[in-house]
Amino acid sequence: MNRVLVTGGAGFLGTHLCKALLDQNKDVLCIDNFFSGSKNNIRSFLNHPYFEFIRHDIIHPFFAEIDEIYHLACPASPIHYQTNAIKTIKTNVMGTINMLGLAKRTQAKILLASTSEVYGDPTDHPQTEEYWGNVNPIGIRSCYDEGKRVAETLMMDYHRQNNVDIKICRIFNTFGPNMAADDGRVVSNFIVQSLKQKQLTVFGDGTQTRSFCYVSDMIQGLMLMMNTKDFIGPVNLGNPREHTILDLAKKIIQLTQSKSKISHESLPEDDPVHRCPDISLARNQLGWEPQVNLEQGLERTIAYFEKEIKRTS
Ligand code: NAD
Ligand code: UDP
Repeated sequence: MNRVLVTGGAGFLGTHLCKALLDQNKDVLCIDNFFSGSKNNIRSFLNHPYFEFIRHDIIHPFFAEIDEIYHLACPASPIHYQTNAIKTIKTNVMGTINMLGLAKRTQAKILLASTSEVYGDPTDHPQTEEYWGNVNPIGIRSCYDEGKRVAETLMMDYHRQNNVDIKICRIFNTFGPNMAADDGRVVSNFIVQSLKQKQLTVFGDGTQTRSFCYVSDMIQGLMLMMNTKDFIGPVNLGNPREHTILDLAKKIIQLTQSKSKISHESLPEDDPVHRCPDISLARNQLGWEPQVNLEQGLERTIAYFEKEIKRTS
Protein backbone atom coordinates (compact mmCIF):
# COMPACT_ATOMS: atom_id res chain seq x y z
CA MET A 1 0.00 0.00 0.00
CA ASN A 2 1.31 3.46 -0.91
CA ARG A 3 2.20 5.53 2.17
CA VAL A 4 1.58 9.15 1.27
CA LEU A 5 2.62 12.15 3.34
CA VAL A 6 0.66 15.38 2.87
CA THR A 7 2.25 18.44 4.46
CA GLY A 8 -0.27 21.20 5.09
CA GLY A 9 -2.97 18.53 4.87
CA ALA A 10 -5.38 20.44 7.13
CA GLY A 11 -5.48 23.45 4.81
CA PHE A 12 -7.78 24.20 1.90
CA LEU A 13 -6.07 22.18 -0.85
CA GLY A 14 -4.60 19.65 1.58
CA THR A 15 -8.02 18.57 2.84
CA HIS A 16 -9.32 17.92 -0.67
CA LEU A 17 -6.12 16.08 -1.53
CA CYS A 18 -6.29 13.84 1.57
CA LYS A 19 -9.87 12.95 0.70
CA ALA A 20 -8.98 12.12 -2.92
CA LEU A 21 -6.03 9.97 -1.78
CA LEU A 22 -8.19 8.11 0.77
CA ASP A 23 -10.77 7.53 -1.98
CA GLN A 24 -7.96 5.78 -3.91
CA ASN A 25 -7.19 3.58 -0.87
CA LYS A 26 -3.87 5.26 -0.10
CA ASP A 27 -2.40 5.25 3.39
CA VAL A 28 -2.40 8.97 4.22
CA LEU A 29 -0.22 10.66 6.84
CA CYS A 30 -1.14 14.32 7.24
CA ILE A 31 1.08 16.80 9.07
CA ASP A 32 0.11 20.37 9.84
CA ASN A 33 0.74 23.01 12.50
CA PHE A 34 -2.72 24.61 12.05
CA PHE A 35 -1.19 27.98 11.17
CA SER A 36 -3.85 28.55 8.51
CA GLY A 37 -5.54 25.14 8.42
CA SER A 38 -8.14 23.81 10.82
CA LYS A 39 -9.14 20.68 12.72
CA ASN A 40 -12.62 21.11 11.36
CA ASN A 41 -11.31 20.51 7.82
CA ILE A 42 -9.99 17.03 8.71
CA ARG A 43 -12.63 16.07 11.27
CA SER A 44 -14.50 13.85 8.82
CA PHE A 45 -11.47 11.60 8.21
CA LEU A 46 -10.09 11.37 11.73
CA ASN A 47 -11.65 7.94 12.21
CA HIS A 48 -10.75 6.65 8.74
CA PRO A 49 -8.58 3.52 9.12
CA TYR A 50 -6.01 4.77 6.58
CA PHE A 51 -5.78 8.36 7.81
CA GLU A 52 -3.31 9.53 10.41
CA PHE A 53 -2.74 13.08 11.63
CA ILE A 54 0.33 14.44 13.39
CA ARG A 55 0.57 18.02 14.59
CA HIS A 56 4.01 19.04 13.39
CA ASP A 57 5.76 22.19 12.23
CA ILE A 58 7.83 21.37 9.16
CA ILE A 59 10.57 23.83 10.03
CA HIS A 60 11.66 20.96 12.32
CA PRO A 61 12.86 17.65 10.85
CA PHE A 62 10.27 14.90 10.50
CA PHE A 63 10.93 11.17 10.41
CA ALA A 64 8.60 8.59 8.91
CA GLU A 65 8.82 5.84 6.30
CA ILE A 66 6.84 6.97 3.27
CA ASP A 67 6.65 6.52 -0.52
CA GLU A 68 5.30 9.88 -1.72
CA ILE A 69 5.24 13.42 -0.35
CA TYR A 70 2.80 16.09 -1.43
CA HIS A 71 4.49 19.15 0.02
CA LEU A 72 1.77 21.80 0.48
CA ALA A 73 2.57 23.31 3.88
CA CYS A 74 2.72 27.09 3.60
CA PRO A 75 0.04 29.72 4.18
CA ALA A 76 -1.31 30.76 0.77
CA SER A 77 -3.36 33.88 1.39
CA PRO A 78 -1.56 37.24 1.53
CA ILE A 79 -2.95 38.16 4.96
CA HIS A 80 -1.82 34.84 6.41
CA TYR A 81 1.63 34.72 4.84
CA GLN A 82 2.30 38.38 5.69
CA THR A 83 1.21 37.95 9.35
CA ASN A 84 4.58 36.39 10.11
CA ALA A 85 6.77 36.92 7.06
CA ILE A 86 9.87 35.37 8.62
CA LYS A 87 7.92 32.25 9.52
CA THR A 88 6.70 32.06 5.91
CA ILE A 89 10.29 32.11 4.66
CA LYS A 90 11.34 29.51 7.24
CA THR A 91 8.45 27.26 6.18
CA ASN A 92 9.43 27.55 2.54
CA VAL A 93 13.18 27.19 3.01
CA MET A 94 13.76 25.10 6.16
CA GLY A 95 10.50 23.19 5.69
CA THR A 96 11.34 22.31 2.09
CA ILE A 97 14.89 21.26 3.05
CA ASN A 98 13.42 18.98 5.75
CA MET A 99 10.96 17.42 3.30
CA LEU A 100 13.66 16.97 0.66
CA GLY A 101 15.92 15.36 3.27
CA LEU A 102 13.09 12.99 4.11
CA ALA A 103 12.53 12.24 0.41
CA LYS A 104 16.26 11.59 -0.06
CA ARG A 105 16.48 9.18 2.91
CA THR A 106 13.31 7.25 2.09
CA GLN A 107 13.68 7.54 -1.73
CA ALA A 108 10.16 8.95 -1.82
CA LYS A 109 8.80 11.00 -4.71
CA ILE A 110 8.17 14.59 -3.67
CA LEU A 111 5.77 17.09 -5.26
CA LEU A 112 6.07 20.79 -4.41
CA ALA A 113 2.96 22.98 -4.43
CA SER A 114 4.66 26.02 -5.93
CA THR A 115 2.77 29.04 -7.17
CA SER A 116 2.11 31.47 -10.00
CA GLU A 117 3.65 34.03 -7.61
CA VAL A 118 7.07 32.87 -8.83
CA TYR A 119 6.21 34.99 -11.90
CA GLY A 120 5.63 38.05 -9.66
CA ASP A 121 3.94 40.90 -11.52
CA PRO A 122 4.44 39.28 -14.93
CA THR A 123 5.53 41.18 -18.02
CA ASP A 124 4.83 38.11 -20.21
CA HIS A 125 1.20 37.21 -20.67
CA PRO A 126 -0.11 34.52 -20.40
CA GLN A 127 2.70 32.98 -18.38
CA THR A 128 4.58 29.95 -19.70
CA GLU A 129 6.97 27.90 -17.59
CA GLU A 130 9.95 29.34 -19.50
CA TYR A 131 9.24 32.83 -18.17
CA TRP A 132 11.60 33.70 -15.27
CA GLY A 133 9.30 36.24 -13.65
CA ASN A 134 9.31 39.81 -12.41
CA VAL A 135 9.54 39.58 -8.64
CA ASN A 136 10.25 42.32 -6.10
CA PRO A 137 12.79 40.74 -3.71
CA ILE A 138 12.18 43.23 -0.88
CA GLY A 139 8.42 43.85 -0.85
CA ILE A 140 5.67 42.59 1.43
CA ARG A 141 4.86 39.66 -0.90
CA SER A 142 8.53 38.61 -1.16
CA CYS A 143 8.47 36.25 1.83
CA TYR A 144 6.04 34.10 -0.14
CA ASP A 145 7.19 34.73 -3.73
CA GLU A 146 10.93 34.44 -3.05
CA GLY A 147 10.29 31.67 -0.50
CA LYS A 148 8.62 29.59 -3.20
CA ARG A 149 11.34 30.46 -5.72
CA VAL A 150 13.97 29.14 -3.28
CA ALA A 151 11.81 26.07 -2.64
CA GLU A 152 11.86 25.38 -6.41
CA THR A 153 15.64 25.91 -6.47
CA LEU A 154 16.05 23.44 -3.59
CA MET A 155 13.88 20.89 -5.41
CA MET A 156 16.05 21.18 -8.54
CA ASP A 157 19.33 21.02 -6.58
CA TYR A 158 18.29 17.92 -4.60
CA HIS A 159 17.29 16.38 -7.92
CA ARG A 160 20.57 17.23 -9.67
CA GLN A 161 22.83 16.53 -6.70
CA ASN A 162 21.07 13.67 -4.91
CA ASN A 163 18.84 12.26 -7.62
CA VAL A 164 15.67 12.92 -5.62
CA ASP A 165 12.53 12.15 -7.65
CA ILE A 166 10.81 15.56 -7.81
CA LYS A 167 7.71 17.19 -9.30
CA ILE A 168 7.11 20.95 -9.33
CA CYS A 169 3.59 22.32 -9.87
CA ARG A 170 2.98 26.06 -10.20
CA ILE A 171 -0.55 26.50 -8.90
CA PHE A 172 -2.64 29.49 -10.05
CA ASN A 173 -5.53 30.90 -7.95
CA THR A 174 -7.70 28.01 -6.83
CA PHE A 175 -10.99 28.18 -4.95
CA GLY A 176 -13.71 25.98 -3.51
CA PRO A 177 -15.23 24.62 -0.31
CA ASN A 178 -13.01 24.50 2.80
CA MET A 179 -11.33 27.84 2.11
CA ALA A 180 -11.18 29.68 5.42
CA ALA A 181 -13.92 32.33 5.55
CA ASP A 182 -11.50 34.86 7.02
CA ASP A 183 -8.35 34.19 5.02
CA GLY A 184 -8.76 37.27 2.87
CA ARG A 185 -8.57 35.61 -0.55
CA VAL A 186 -10.78 37.24 -3.10
CA VAL A 187 -13.30 34.46 -3.79
CA SER A 188 -13.98 33.65 -0.13
CA ASN A 189 -14.05 37.35 0.80
CA PHE A 190 -16.57 38.27 -1.90
CA ILE A 191 -18.83 35.27 -1.24
CA VAL A 192 -18.94 35.86 2.52
CA GLN A 193 -19.47 39.62 2.04
CA SER A 194 -22.29 38.96 -0.45
CA LEU A 195 -24.02 36.38 1.72
CA LYS A 196 -23.84 38.73 4.71
CA GLN A 197 -25.18 41.65 2.58
CA LYS A 198 -21.98 43.61 3.24
CA GLN A 199 -20.07 45.73 0.74
CA LEU A 200 -17.73 43.82 -1.58
CA THR A 201 -14.25 45.24 -1.10
CA VAL A 202 -12.70 45.56 -4.56
CA PHE A 203 -9.07 46.62 -4.22
CA GLY A 204 -8.09 49.33 -6.71
CA ASP A 205 -10.34 49.86 -9.72
CA GLY A 206 -10.86 46.10 -10.10
CA THR A 207 -9.33 45.90 -13.59
CA GLN A 208 -6.58 43.58 -12.35
CA THR A 209 -7.14 40.03 -13.57
CA ARG A 210 -6.84 36.53 -12.17
CA SER A 211 -7.85 33.12 -13.49
CA PHE A 212 -9.71 30.88 -11.07
CA CYS A 213 -9.46 27.12 -10.99
CA TYR A 214 -11.98 24.97 -9.13
CA VAL A 215 -10.42 22.78 -6.47
CA SER A 216 -11.43 19.37 -7.91
CA ASP A 217 -9.60 20.20 -11.15
CA MET A 218 -6.52 21.27 -9.23
CA ILE A 219 -6.42 18.09 -7.14
CA GLN A 220 -6.73 15.99 -10.28
CA GLY A 221 -3.81 17.92 -11.83
CA LEU A 222 -1.61 17.42 -8.76
CA MET A 223 -2.33 13.68 -8.65
CA LEU A 224 -1.70 13.26 -12.38
CA MET A 225 1.60 15.07 -11.96
CA MET A 226 2.65 12.81 -9.07
CA ASN A 227 1.96 9.77 -11.25
CA THR A 228 3.78 10.85 -14.43
CA LYS A 229 7.07 9.29 -15.30
CA ASP A 230 10.09 11.22 -16.61
CA PHE A 231 8.51 14.64 -16.21
CA ILE A 232 9.53 16.81 -13.29
CA GLY A 233 8.07 20.16 -14.35
CA PRO A 234 7.77 22.91 -13.44
CA VAL A 235 4.26 22.78 -14.83
CA ASN A 236 1.54 25.43 -14.63
CA LEU A 237 -1.78 24.23 -13.20
CA GLY A 238 -4.66 26.67 -13.35
CA ASN A 239 -7.70 27.67 -15.32
CA PRO A 240 -6.70 29.61 -18.45
CA ARG A 241 -9.88 31.78 -18.46
CA GLU A 242 -9.06 35.24 -17.16
CA HIS A 243 -11.49 37.53 -15.31
CA THR A 244 -11.23 41.02 -13.88
CA ILE A 245 -11.77 41.29 -10.14
CA LEU A 246 -14.66 43.71 -10.77
CA ASP A 247 -16.41 41.14 -12.98
CA LEU A 248 -15.88 38.50 -10.31
CA ALA A 249 -17.53 40.76 -7.73
CA LYS A 250 -20.53 41.38 -10.01
CA LYS A 251 -20.89 37.67 -10.79
CA ILE A 252 -20.88 36.73 -7.11
CA ILE A 253 -23.50 39.40 -6.27
CA GLN A 254 -25.67 38.01 -9.06
CA LEU A 255 -25.25 34.34 -8.09
CA THR A 256 -25.99 35.00 -4.42
CA GLN A 257 -28.90 37.31 -5.31
CA SER A 258 -27.38 39.74 -2.84
CA LYS A 259 -28.24 43.39 -2.27
CA SER A 260 -24.58 44.14 -1.56
CA LYS A 261 -22.86 47.06 -3.30
CA ILE A 262 -19.24 47.30 -4.38
CA SER A 263 -16.78 49.54 -2.54
CA HIS A 264 -13.28 50.35 -3.77
CA GLU A 265 -10.33 50.18 -1.38
CA SER A 266 -6.66 50.87 -1.95
CA LEU A 267 -4.69 48.32 -3.94
CA PRO A 268 -2.19 46.34 -1.82
CA GLU A 269 1.52 46.87 -2.55
CA ASP A 270 2.91 44.81 -5.46
CA ASP A 271 -0.52 43.41 -6.36
CA PRO A 272 0.02 41.72 -9.77
CA VAL A 273 -1.86 43.42 -12.62
CA HIS A 274 -2.48 40.29 -14.72
CA ARG A 275 -2.20 36.62 -14.09
CA CYS A 276 -3.19 33.83 -16.44
CA PRO A 277 -1.53 30.47 -17.04
CA ASP A 278 -0.50 29.02 -20.37
CA ILE A 279 -1.36 25.38 -19.69
CA SER A 280 -0.08 23.87 -22.96
CA LEU A 281 2.57 21.88 -21.08
CA ALA A 282 0.01 20.40 -18.65
CA ARG A 283 -2.27 19.54 -21.58
CA ASN A 284 0.57 17.80 -23.45
CA GLN A 285 2.33 16.08 -20.55
CA LEU A 286 -0.60 15.23 -18.28
CA GLY A 287 -3.59 15.33 -20.62
CA TRP A 288 -5.03 17.73 -18.04
CA GLU A 289 -7.66 20.38 -18.66
CA PRO A 290 -9.93 22.07 -16.09
CA GLN A 291 -13.49 20.74 -16.34
CA VAL A 292 -15.42 23.02 -13.96
CA ASN A 293 -16.20 26.52 -15.17
CA LEU A 294 -16.19 29.60 -12.94
CA GLU A 295 -19.95 29.76 -12.52
CA GLN A 296 -20.30 26.07 -11.59
CA GLY A 297 -17.40 26.36 -9.15
CA LEU A 298 -18.83 29.50 -7.58
CA GLU A 299 -22.25 27.88 -7.11
CA ARG A 300 -20.69 24.96 -5.20
CA THR A 301 -18.53 27.30 -3.12
CA ILE A 302 -21.47 29.58 -2.32
CA ALA A 303 -23.47 26.52 -1.13
CA TYR A 304 -20.55 25.60 1.16
CA PHE A 305 -20.28 29.08 2.68
CA GLU A 306 -24.05 29.30 3.19
CA LYS A 307 -23.81 26.18 5.39
CA GLU A 308 -20.66 27.44 7.13
CA ILE A 309 -22.25 30.77 8.01
CA LYS A 310 -25.28 28.96 9.50
CA ARG A 311 -23.01 26.52 11.40
CA THR A 312 -20.89 29.25 12.95
CA SER A 313 -23.55 31.87 13.65
P1 NAD B 1 -3.82 26.98 3.23
O1 NAD B 1 -3.24 28.14 3.95
O2 NAD B 1 -5.28 26.72 3.33
O3 NAD B 1 -3.09 25.64 3.67
C1 NAD B 1 -1.73 25.57 4.04
C2 NAD B 1 -1.60 24.58 5.19
O4 NAD B 1 -0.22 24.52 5.58
C3 NAD B 1 -2.38 25.01 6.43
O5 NAD B 1 -3.14 23.93 6.92
C4 NAD B 1 -1.30 25.44 7.41
O6 NAD B 1 -1.69 25.29 8.75
C5 NAD B 1 -0.15 24.54 7.00
N1 NAD B 1 1.16 25.06 7.39
C6 NAD B 1 1.65 26.32 7.19
N2 NAD B 1 2.90 26.42 7.68
C7 NAD B 1 3.21 25.19 8.20
C8 NAD B 1 4.34 24.68 8.87
N3 NAD B 1 5.43 25.44 9.11
N4 NAD B 1 4.31 23.40 9.28
C9 NAD B 1 3.22 22.61 9.08
N5 NAD B 1 2.12 23.05 8.45
C10 NAD B 1 2.11 24.33 8.02
O7 NAD B 1 -3.38 27.13 1.73
P2 NAD B 1 -3.82 26.30 0.43
O8 NAD B 1 -4.60 27.18 -0.43
O9 NAD B 1 -4.36 24.98 0.82
O10 NAD B 1 -2.41 26.11 -0.27
C11 NAD B 1 -1.69 24.90 -0.17
C12 NAD B 1 -0.39 25.05 -0.94
O11 NAD B 1 -0.66 25.36 -2.29
C13 NAD B 1 0.52 26.16 -0.40
O12 NAD B 1 1.86 25.70 -0.44
C14 NAD B 1 0.32 27.29 -1.37
O13 NAD B 1 1.45 28.09 -1.48
C15 NAD B 1 0.03 26.54 -2.67
N6 NAD B 1 -0.79 27.38 -3.57
C16 NAD B 1 -2.12 27.53 -3.35
C17 NAD B 1 -2.85 28.38 -4.19
C18 NAD B 1 -4.33 28.57 -4.02
O14 NAD B 1 -4.91 29.35 -4.78
N7 NAD B 1 -4.99 27.93 -3.11
C19 NAD B 1 -2.20 29.04 -5.24
C20 NAD B 1 -0.85 28.88 -5.40
C21 NAD B 1 -0.15 28.02 -4.57
N1 UDP C 1 -8.85 41.40 -3.85
C1 UDP C 1 -9.88 42.32 -3.78
N2 UDP C 1 -10.68 42.33 -2.69
C2 UDP C 1 -10.52 41.46 -1.66
C3 UDP C 1 -9.47 40.50 -1.73
C4 UDP C 1 -8.65 40.51 -2.84
O1 UDP C 1 -10.08 43.14 -4.70
O2 UDP C 1 -11.31 41.52 -0.70
C5 UDP C 1 -8.00 41.40 -5.05
C6 UDP C 1 -6.50 41.43 -4.77
O3 UDP C 1 -6.05 42.77 -4.64
C7 UDP C 1 -5.96 40.75 -6.01
C8 UDP C 1 -7.03 39.73 -6.36
O4 UDP C 1 -8.21 40.17 -5.71
O5 UDP C 1 -5.84 41.67 -7.07
C9 UDP C 1 -6.70 38.31 -5.90
O6 UDP C 1 -6.36 38.37 -4.53
P1 UDP C 1 -6.05 37.06 -3.68
O7 UDP C 1 -5.55 37.54 -2.35
O8 UDP C 1 -7.22 36.16 -3.68
O9 UDP C 1 -4.92 36.30 -4.48
P2 UDP C 1 -3.53 36.77 -5.15
O10 UDP C 1 -3.38 38.25 -5.09
O11 UDP C 1 -2.50 36.06 -4.34
O12 UDP C 1 -3.68 36.29 -6.53
